[in-house]
Amino acid sequence: MTVDPWAIPAGMVGSDDLVRIGTGAAGDDLLGCPSFLSVKIRPRIRSRRRSWTPAAQLETFPLQPVMAALDRVEHGQLSADAALAEIGQRGTPLHPGLIKFARHAVCSYLSIGSKENGLKPVPDWWVVRKTSARIWELYAWGRRYQTADGRHREFRFMRFGEAVSNPDDRTKVAIAAYVTAFGVPAAWPESWREPFGLREAPTVDHARVVEVSLADGAADVLFDGTPADAEAYYAEHGRKRIASIAAGGPARPGSSCAECKQLTSCGTLPRIPGVLALPTTRAPIRTVSMSDLRYHRTCPAQAHLRSLHLPRAYEYGAEAELGHAVHAWLENAHRDGTACDPAAMPTGDSGWSAGRWRVDGDAARVGARMLRRHLDVCALHLSDAATQVRVEPRLAVHDTAAQAIVLAKPDMIYMDDGGWVWRELKTTQKEGWFHDDLLDEFPQLALAVSFLAEGVLGGDPATARVELEVLRPDGAEIDVIDPTDPERLTKARAVLRRLTQPWRADETFGARPSKNCRWCPVSRWCPSFPGSDIPDEKDGGA
Ligand code: SF4
Ligand code: SF4
Repeated sequence: MTVDPWAIPAGMVGSDDLVRIGTGAAGDDLLGCPSFLSVKIRPRIRSRRRSWTPAAQLETFPLQPVMAALDRVEHGQLSADAALAEIGQRGTPLHPGLIKFARHAVCSYLSIGSKENGLKPVPDWWVVRKTSARIWELYAWGRRYQTADGRHREFRFMRFGEAVSNPDDRTKVAIAAYVTAFGVPAAWPESWREPFGLREAPTVDHARVVEVSLADGAADVLFDGTPADAEAYYAEHGRKRIASIAAGGPARPGSSCAECKQLTSCGTLPRIPGVLALPTTRAPIRTVSMSDLRYHRTCPAQAHLRSLHLPRAYEYGAEAELGHAVHAWLENAHRDGTACDPAAMPTGDSGWSAGRWRVDGDAARVGARMLRRHLDVCALHLSDAATQVRVEPRLAVHDTAAQAIVLAKPDMIYMDDGGWVWRELKTTQKEGWFHDDLLDEFPQLALAVSFLAEGVLGGDPATARVELEVLRPDGAEIDVIDPTDPERLTKARAVLRRLTQPWRADETFGARPSKNCRWCPVSRWCPSFPGSDIPDEKDGGA
């Protein structure tokens, strides 16, 4: 393993003589932050300025209780029933929904067994170590099995739900195959800054990598071969990506920031108190988006179970699918910063697709008419003053008062006359809105106002504006909100505070059953789910 020279980022200290790469690092989003990853894999690099924030009260890593229970069964000789009963009784408190999921996941996992293949669970980790100027360690996070003579090994990933094809997965599989074929048994280090404690092991003849669905216990074989095959697979799919992770790259603010060692020193992540309109608080650092806040308003338990990324039921009705299809078509059309091409628009005479969305029949016709109406208000058709166009950019800011990494993904931003324009798009077939004030109707506009008023994007605040583009089958309109208007800013902050205050104060994320449970995509894990036929009068007013 060789990499380009890596420099310790400003604000960090320590030694980079230990580099430890697990399958988790390889699986991190390719759109994530390269600088974050390059520091994460160096356990002896730490922040010069230690920050202290309280820990979250509830467990935030949903596989932790699953792994702990499986360890108790496979290595602790506890019965499955006893291990299931123990979930939620020890360690960091678990949300009741996570307890339900973890019990389901443990049962699903154990259903595939291992004894019939002549395999026994292995408590040790498998670690490949190479020592040059630095110690390099590769390991895979999952479960391990081998035959009695140790010559046939199997590594198992755990998958939350359905299989998803992701090019990153090949790097994960490559690491897993490599450490399964060549890894030395090792105890988990007492301190993360210390190397794994390696033991002796016989040579391996055969390695398998399997992925087990925690939803239903289905198992897929991802790799099956000899050590030579594993070496070749690793050379093709692992080595280059690992070198790139180790080499690092630019800081790219986003969902990694909350767990980043560079949080207090990063020069790229904007730090602005007050974006969420909250007073200074001492609280666990959290990541939040406007969707999270809306889910929390509907039901705190739903918001929490979504944030844990537990498997979800399909949640989109026909209207939402149509809206997503129109959004996706325009996103693709504007992606390179140019105006959309009317000739390329769907006619609606037949079904059409955009991104992962497809519409047919009436929906295809209505969607095509909405797209046609967009031409009347397209920022890139109407003005050649729009520059620095970015479609669906991932924005992040550290609100140091609320202790939150705030994420936002506007439909489009562009620069006009020195100020940023933040455009959101809504599709509707209704004549009007439920609320009189657009900021009440669409709280994401309130967040946009706050971002621009606080100068998160830079530019000239005097010429910044928020635009709401509304597309109907028979017309289109643009509503403009001026973030420098004191009345609009006060209103935006009030709208935000109504959402952010209860969310920030919440540490337990209790269930709030209501008619919304009918459409809740995580109701399967919710012990408070009253059933889909809950009558309207039980609506808790969420
Ligand atoms: S704070 Fe965020 S942007 Fe900065 S290095 Fe860390 S993850 Fe990247
Ligand atoms: S089923 Fe109802 S109470 Fe349970 S998480 Fe979903 S919305 Fe909340």
